[in-house]
Amino acid sequence: RPLVEFRGVDLRYGEDDDEDSTLALSGVDVDIAAGEFTALIGPSGCGKSTMLKLISGLRLPNAGGVTVAGREVDRPLKIVGMAFQSPALLPWRTTLANVLLPLEIVEPHCRTFKRDLPRHRERVHELFRQVGLRDVAHRYPWQLSGGMQQRVSLCRALIHEPELLLLDEPFGALDAFTREDLWDVLKSVQHARRFTVVLVTHDLVEATYLAETVHVFSQRPGRIIHTRRIPEACR
Ligand code: ADP
Ligand code: ADP
Repeated sequence: RPLVEFRGVDLRYGEDDDEDSTLALSGVDVDIAAGEFTALIGPSGCGKSTMLKLISGLRLPNAGGVTVAGREVDRPLKIVGMAFQSPALLPWRTTLANVLLPLEIVEPHCRTFKRDLPRHRERVHELFRQVGLRDVAHRYPWQLSGGMQQRVSLCRALIHEPELLLLDEPFGALDAFTREDLWDVLKSVQHARRFTVVLVTHDLVEATYLAETVHVFSQRPGRIIHTRRIPEACR
């Protein structure tokens, strides 16, 4: 059974009876298999980010159902990692401390976090190696280029070993060369760790280079109008 299932999902921002409310998604059905790399593509405002909010449980549908791993999503999920167009690193923390943040938040007792810190640090260094970061652990975000910050942001999204990685235009603010480097970084990390990825993008080249399945959205109301499998040879 698929890792993520949408059945007849509507999502409205604002109240039903308010004429200023927006029906962001209407009647969305989709299956996302475990381990699959999926891209959501379509014009700005068609509901792609909204789909990520529904998968992560940050929003609940007005109609229909969203399940992840066979369970109805009714609250924010811990099994997802997220990254956005802005790396959103905390400027007063070193890169190491930024990547450790999700573990600090998740672990209920500060004591266990402290006890496991040497092991956590080792995992951060391993992730840094996998994404091609060297000698950055004790630097601050503002000392790094945009591409390096985005690599750190990817590590932060992966440190708690999520089953599902949700990416909202993570490469949108990067120059073309850096972007293509990061495509390969993401590909190799996903290959090594086999998590499921849902990538929001409006770049068709990016979608077909990275994804096994591409869902194309229409504007207003947002719904999926095509689903394409991308042959291995094109990726
Ligand atoms: P995309 O990611 O495809 O650009 P979004 O999912 O961000 O699209 O938005 C879909 C629609 O919902 C847009 O019309 C947007 O303006 C609206 N929308 C998104 N978030 C909110 C919000 N928090 N409140 C009201 N309207 C929103
Ligand atoms: P995207 O890059 O996904 O298109 P936007 O620039 O549309 O993002 O939106 C950025 C943020 O503002 C999102 O968190 C979205 O939920 C929120 N947002 C978008 N449209 C509206 C709106 N009409 N009212 C309130 N919040 C909105």
